[in-house]
Amino acid sequence: MQVGIIGTGYVGLVVGACLAETGNHVVCADIDEEKIYSLQQGQSPIYEPGLEPLLRHNLSEKRLGFTTDVGACVEHAEVIFIAVGTPADEDGSADLQHVLSVAETIGKHLNEEKIIITKSTVPVGTAAKVREEIERHTSQPFHICSNPEFLKEGDAVEDFMRPDRIVIGVESDQVKATLEELFSPFVRSGNPMIFMDIASAEMTKYAANAMLAVRISFMNQIAALCEKAGADVDLVRRGIGSDPRIGRAFLYAGAGYGGSCFPKDVRALVRIAEEMGIDMSLPRSAQEWNDFQKEIVLRKLTGELGDDLSGLRIAIWGLSFKPETDDLREAASLTVIPKLIERGAEVAAHDPKGMESARTELPPEVEYAPDEYAACEGADALLILTEWLQYRRPDLGRIKTLLKRPLIVDGRNLFRPETMEGLGFTYLSIGRRDVR
Ligand code: NAD
Repeated sequence: MQVGIIGTGYVGLVVGACLAETGNHVVCADIDEEKIYSLQQGQSPIYEPGLEPLLRHNLSEKRLGFTTDVGACVEHAEVIFIAVGTPADEDGSADLQHVLSVAETIGKHLNEEKIIITKSTVPVGTAAKVREEIERHTSQPFHICSNPEFLKEGDAVEDFMRPDRIVIGVESDQVKATLEELFSPFVRSGNPMIFMDIASAEMTKYAANAMLAVRISFMNQIAALCEKAGADVDLVRRGIGSDPRIGRAFLYAGAGYGGSCFPKDVRALVRIAEEMGIDMSLPRSAQEWNDFQKEIVLRKLTGELGDDLSGLRIAIWGLSFKPETDDLREAASLTVIPKLIERGAEVAAHDPKGMESARTELPPEVEYAPDEYAACEGADALLILTEWLQYRRPDLGRIKTLLKRPLIVDGRNLFRPETMEGLGFTYLSIGRRDVR
């Protein structure tokens, strides 16, 4: 099939590469010239495991191409995915300007009957707006559908290649058959392709993200209670997660959720509901608690060292919002590090993949360490914000000798309090007993 992808970010790029890998001819378009230039050279502008080899393979097989000419991409394709960003507007609602601007370009370049798919996360009713915008510029027939994306950054290629489910909102059997054919290579193991109406597909994505955000904030609230009550949230998690009605995933207490999706999608859902006269108190309070939770390591640190951090040096492990990505959007580091600097601290940070993006996102005073041990040299405390694999089993003895004082505030509960006690650390984690 001839496929066009508009928007080559974390989603568009993965979708494009995976659809090319299954034999389609894919053209990906983006208005970001630098990104497209690097993609044309086979270099991924983002870090996503397994993505670059897919890009190179399909470029060399000539099944994948990149262009800044969005109109040409529209003309090439039978099926067009809109995968541009939908950031939060000032009032929390989803900003649809990029989606609608793409719809305008599609309308202007529609040269025959095509299928237009909104892949971006959009509020209910957006497909109708996209349709109206396209119709303003063309009299060609076309089909609109919604195919929300559930991939997780850090696992995106694997998630797209072997999805739990594919959700597709369609209005015609003919389109349904075409999309069944396009997506069939990804559901060979029997995971479902779930067809529904467009509004339900649009709503499914927000409902999924809000549910996951609520689970995380719920566990963070339980963690706060565990600290007061002398319980251990890790044991509570194991105790409840083995109930199949609850399940084990997404029950980890920590320094709050971030990323390009949960915070903005939860806010957008709350906003949509407000407009429709529904008070979505559960997701709203999950988001409010998360905003509070993102500063938990800072509160624990100042509880130990005082509010004035002048002259103190703080090591940070982890800048990205989760492991295996270079994406810093809404990461805890963006909340915590500027506040450390405001309080007079020097910051030495390390992240395996996120340091390049961090240089433009974080204050210029931040020092970047070549490895996790160098970050600890002469530091008064180590704060752990992201659970990268390489941080999970470090040489703790070496860290103790590198730190000026043996204080670790662990926002991801990587170590056992007993171990840290044995090694003589002051160790503060989330929802578990403090070690001093
Ligand atoms: P992103 O910011 O990484 O990429 C968006 C891309 O769209 C950018 O490269 C930008 O230059 C391009 N763009 C903007 N306007 C354009 C235009 N008019 N024409 C062509 N290109 C244009 O965004 P992302 O993380 O890939 O997310 C895209 C959508 O997918 C969002 O709606 C997001 O909520 C949703 N989503 C994201 C994830 C995720 O993990 N990142 C997962 C599921 C769904």
